[in-house]
Amino acid sequence: MNLFTRIVCFALIIGALILVAFRATASSQVPESVKESAERISGDHFTLVVSTPEGVTVYSVTPVSREMLDAIDSGLAELFEISRGPKHRFRKSLRFTDYTVFVGRADRTKAQSGEYSPDIAVGAAQYAGTKYDKGGYIYAAGMVVSARSNAFLIADHSKDFERVSRVVRYEGEHIVLYQNDRDEYLRTMDHSKGGGHPILSN
Ligand SMILES: [Zn+2]
Repeated sequence: MNLFTRIVCFALIIGALILVAFRATASSQVPESVKESAERISGDHFTLVVSTPEGVTVYSVTPVSREMLDAIDSGLAELFEISRGPKHRFRKSLRFTDYTVFVGRADRTKAQSGEYSPDIAVGAAQYAGTKYDKGGYIYAAGMVVSARSNAFLIADHSKDFERVSRVVRYEGEHIVLYQNDRDEYLRTMDHSKGGGHPILSN
C-alpha cells in the first residue's frame, strides 16, 4: 500500500466515522429540553438509548426488552395505517424514525381493580379534582412529552405487551393530530373533561 492509498483509506475511514456519528446523532436524539421534560415528568433518568427494529428511538432507565420494542413498533404501525387511511389521509409524522419513546419506571403495576396496569404518576395539573386525581397526581399509562418533537412517555412492562401497543397507539394519536389536524388535536388533547381513546379510526 503506498502512501496515497493509505491517506485515502484513512480519510475514508474518518469520513465514515463522522457519517456514523452524525447519523447516530440525527436519528437518536431529541432536543435536550425534551429529554429534560421527560425526566421532570417521570422522575426518571434516561441514560440508555436504542432503536426498535423499525427505527423508533427509545430512551430508558433499564434495558428495554425485545417484546417492549416490538410492541412499540406494532402500536405505531397500526396508528400509521389508520392515519393514512381513506378516513383521515394524514401525511405527516407517519414514519417510525419520526418518533421518540421514553420508557419510564412504572410507579404502580396494578390498577385499583387489581389488574396488571403499569402506570406513571404525574402531577395532576388540569386533572386536579377529577376522578383521575389521586391526591395531587394521577396515574397515566402514557403521556405526550413533546408533540412538536414526536416524543411521548410510557411505563415499562414485563407482560401484557398488547397494552403497550395500545398505549403507544393512543399517545401517538395526539402527536399525529398535532402534526396533521391542529383543531382536532386541541379538541382532544385533554381528557379531564371527558373523552379518551381511540380518537382515530378506520
Ligand atoms: Zn390521550
